[in-house]
Parts: sequence; structure tokens; C-alpha cells
Amino acid sequence: MYSIAIDGPAGSGKSTLARALADKLNISYIDTGAMYRALAYKAFKNNLDLCDFSNLENFLKGTHIDYKDGKIYLDKEDVSDKIRSQGISKKASVLSKNQKVRDYLVNIQREISKRRSVVMEGRDIGTVVLPNADLKIFLTASIDIRTRRRYDQLKEKDKSVDFEKLKRDIMSRDENDIKRKNSPLKKAEDAFEFDNSNMNLEESINYILDLLRGKNVI
Ligand code: C5P
Repeated sequence: MYSIAIDGPAGSGKSTLARALADKLNISYIDTGAMYRALAYKAFKNNLDLCDFSNLENFLKGTHIDYKDGKIYLDKEDVSDKIRSQGISKKASVLSKNQKVRDYLVNIQREISKRRSVVMEGRDIGTVVLPNADLKIFLTASIDIRTRRRYDQLKEKDKSVDFEKLKRDIMSRDENDIKRKNSPLKKAEDAFEFDNSNMNLEESINYILDLLRGKNVI
């Protein structure tokens, strides 16, 4: 069994790359951002104040999160599509500052990776969740390219999405993720950093496969 950790800012291409890599290697793909989003979605639906979680423990105790076959399940319901809005992105970013929330999800993420080989992507995988991952990648791309990728994704569902506003939202979310006290987004010391602004998916995958072979992981 082995694990690959991919971290990086919003829109850097983590999901696309991690999913394609997992397919190629025939191992599991785990999107940890989807877990933060699912919790934010439930909190929002139940009108819970995200900043004042006096009842947070009960909320977490009464919540079941699972990630299977590329789908996120919240209390047994597949919410994969419902969590993809810009509103939920922002709420997830706020919620993810909370250490109790992080402990709860990190525990689930580690349990999953004990049972199978994984490509896991997020913000703190190489630094916190899987510090002994066999390969760590820190993926980046320019802000305009990252905005363009998210814009193209969102535009399919929401014609009113505005490029400049989206860019500001992504920058503000990155700032939240980088500056937060608990498990901020940062490159693990032993991670390979690569900027995929000018690389296509196949080139990125080949780059990672070479790294894996170089480390005798595959
Ligand atoms: O990756 P995605 O954009 O779906 O993540 C949504 C939010 O969840 C991020 O902006 C970040 O605040 C949070 N997150 C996190 N740690 C992770 C994955 C996501 O804090 N491992």
C-alpha cells in the first residue's frame, strides 16, 4: 500500500490531476475539500452559525461523512453536486479554520488511507494528514489560470458567473487558507513543488509517474 499527497491553492488543478492519477494507478482518489464542503453545506442548510459553534460537538457527532468512488456522502446522501457552488466554497473556507472540525475530518481521512492506497488532495495532506506519504506534491498555477479553470467549471452550471469576482473570491479564500492558525496551506518540506500553468494533464501525470518510479513507489 502507498499514498500520494497533493496540496495546493484553489483551482491549481489538484482534483483533475489526483483523479486521473488514481485512475491510472488503479487506486482510490480522495478529495478532502469535498468533506469540508459537505460539513459547510449541512451547517448552512440547518442555519447554524459557522463562527459560533457552541453546539459543534453535537453537530459533528450527529454527522456521517464518507467518500467512496469519487463521491461524497453526507449522512448517506450523495451531495457531490450540491457542494460545488461559490457560496459553499466560502463557507467551507470559514469552517475549515476550526480545529475541532479539522480533527474530526483528519481522523476520517487517515482511517480511509489505512485501508487502501490513495491519492489524497487538499491543503494539509502532506503536512498534517499523511506526514509519511510516499510522495508529496505541492501544485501551483498562476492566479489567472486558476480562475480560468474554475470559471470554465462553474460556467457550465451558472451562466451569471463573473470572472473578476471569481478571481477576488479565489484570492480571498487562498489568503484564508494560508493565514489561518490551524493547519495552514503550505508546502511540506519534503514536497515536490510544481507549477502546472503551462502543462497539460498528460505532462503533469507523466511528471508524477517519473517521481514515483524514481522513489521506487511503483
Ligand atoms: O479543495 P476545495 O476548494 O474543494 O476546498 C474547499 C475549502 O476547504 C478550502 O478553501 C479550504 O478552506 C478547505 N480545505 C482545508 N483542508 C483541506 C481541504 C480543504 O482546509 N485538506
